[in-house]
Amino acid sequence: DALIHTRRTLHQRPELMYQESQTSAIVQKALTEMGISNFTTGWAVNTHPDVIPGPGGYGIVVDIGTGQAPCVLLRADMDALPILEQTTNVDAFRSQTDHQMHACGHDGHTTMLLGAAAILKGMEASLPGTVRIMFQPAEEGGAGAKRMREEGVLKQAPQPSYAFGMHVWPTLPSGVVATRPGPLLAACERFEILLAGVGGHAAMPHLTIDPIVTASAIVMNLQTIVSRTISPLESGVCSITKIEGGDAFNVIPHSVLLRGTIRALRTETLLSLRDKVEHIVESTAATHGCNVTISYSPDYYPPTVNDPDLYETFAKHVGAMVSSEGVIRDTEPTMGAEDFSFVAESIPSAFFLLGQGSGTDPPTDYGLHHPHFALDESVLPQGVELHVNLALRALQK
Ligand SMILES: [Zn+2]
Ligand SMILES: [Zn+2]
Repeated sequence: DALIHTRRTLHQRPELMYQESQTSAIVQKALTEMGISNFTTGWAVNTHPDVIPGPGGYGIVVDIGTGQAPCVLLRADMDALPILEQTTNVDAFRSQTDHQMHACGHDGHTTMLLGAAAILKGMEASLPGTVRIMFQPAEEGGAGAKRMREEGVLKQAPQPSYAFGMHVWPTLPSGVVATRPGPLLAACERFEILLAGVGGHAAMPHLTIDPIVTASAIVMNLQTIVSRTISPLESGVCSITKIEGGDAFNVIPHSVLLRGTIRALRTETLLSLRDKVEHIVESTAATHGCNVTISYSPDYYPPTVNDPDLYETFAKHVGAMVSSEGVIRDTEPTMGAEDFSFVAESIPSAFFLLGQGSGTDPPTDYGLHHPHFALDESVLPQGVELHVNLALRALQK
């Protein structure tokens, strides 16, 4: 009940990346009420306020235990999305901010980690080491985990030897725990292409340089990258997700803006996709006589890779204990991305998918980022249990 209360409090106050001030205050208050006062704040300062609004600095780190090695790290993300909530049957705790919504379950993740903190605090005297708890802002494209890594969350003493994270997963039945060794989630980069031509009358195209025709050619040419230039055994995605240009049926506009994303299961593949996008965009624009500028996000995400040894010797056993099926469900990698990857890049880590798709009132099988997404609150205790078991057993590993 306490878990549900916390989660609903967070759900009502969704905040976008680098603006999670109330969320941070709620977490700090909850920690204080558990008798935890040694947390540090000010983590994940926004280093790119020109591109992403908000000051950042709302991350929280707390060490529970002896303050000595061994140390293991548990992480949850805190930010919401710019989506208008349309979930049914949640009127008691609906988002109070228009066009902002916890549609990725991060309110649930934060609650699960708070639940784990309370239990670990209760057994602090008997912990054989330190559990570092990382509340991380700006997961949704802001690379908050990378900021916290740069700020030293993995380096400060005692240094964690292992790290664990999890995400609720609507396409799996509630209570099922799934993961796999190796890459689980994709590397991700987003880009913006600004095409500048010469606008004019639609009836006299020969007096213009038409950025709409150029944009169309670019969209089609980009389709050959994955199909023709990377190995069929390698995974990649290149999607254009936004085209903006023009105002009237009889005017050829001066410029067109395109946005999109590329994904891959290896960083090298992602970087090679990025080179190919650049080459095709520049050469196609040149062919049509348009000027072009391409810009990228400040930080691309590497793939989220589960350490194979940690998976075999440890993670799959702990996951199995908590999973309602009694075994870990092996899963395909997904091309979604997750910035826990910055942690997993630095120390042996495991990331878990926690099934939550079986709820009916409201239905909880809507996809992540869907305006009808609903958290299955019945899996909150399982998330807590998974965190606590991972921490306790990893300290003894
Ligand atoms: Zn998300
Ligand atoms: Zn998420």
